This record gives sequence, structure tokens and C-alpha cells, in this order.
Amino acid sequence: MIMLRNTRQRQAVLQILQRSRRHPDAASIYQEVRQQLPHISLGTVYRALDALVKDGVAITIETAGQATRYDYRHGEHHHHAICRHCGEIFDIQLDALPELPSGTLPAGFEAKTMQLEVHGICANCTTELA
Ligand SMILES: [Zn+2]
Ligand SMILES: [Zn+2]
Repeated sequence: MIMLRNTRQRQAVLQILQRSRRHPDAASIYQEVRQQLPHISLGTVYRALDALVKDGVAITIETAGQATRYDYRHGEHHHHAICRHCGEIFDIQLDALPELPSGTLPAGFEAKTMQLEVHGICANCTTELA
């Protein structure tokens, strides 16, 4: 029974992630999921998100000084540009990743995926700051 409930809660969290284009943090996922599952706790949302990340279904995005943000993994070549001023996260599509110079990875390490995070100032904030 507990398994089933967990699955349902995880499904609900996953659906919100899949629908959202805004790279929500756990607190805003919690607000949204509560409309479907009024008794869900924030801790359950965190555990569901953890499980989705471990399963490779979702990814985390760390932004300086803000809560961790989450994203559904829409395919392999999905990367992020993060504005360090307003915290907006933009999706980037890249067909091929830049090659890592040899010797970058630990000896014997076999790279499977790579997640690119570009940090900077978005166009809106550049105008605002000018
Ligand atoms: Zn910005
Ligand atoms: Zn994204």
C-alpha cells in the first residue's frame, strides 16, 4: 500500500516536471502537487524528486544562493544557461558537446553523459543593469 502511494506521488511530481518549462524548485512543485494530492508533505516531494534524479528521469540545476531547481530530462542534448542576476534558467540545445581535452577526466573514467551549465547575465538583466 505504501509502495502504491509512493508511486502515485512520484507520478504526480513527474507530471508537474514534464509540464513545467520553468525549472521549478521543490517548494513550487509542492504547491502545485498539493492541488491533486492535498495530504502530500514537502518531505515526500523531496524524496520523489530524489528518486527521479537517481533514476535519471530528472536533473537538478544548482543556482547560486537559491534553492535547487529541477527539470525533466527532455532528451540527451538539453543544457542550461542560468542568469545569476534574476535566476531565470534557459534551455539550450546542442547537437554535439565540446570535446574535453585529454587528461581532463580521472584515469580510466568513461564519460557517459555531460551536462553543460552556462552562468551569466540574461538580456533582460543586461538592459536593466545598464
Ligand atoms: Zn536575468
Ligand atoms: Zn531545462
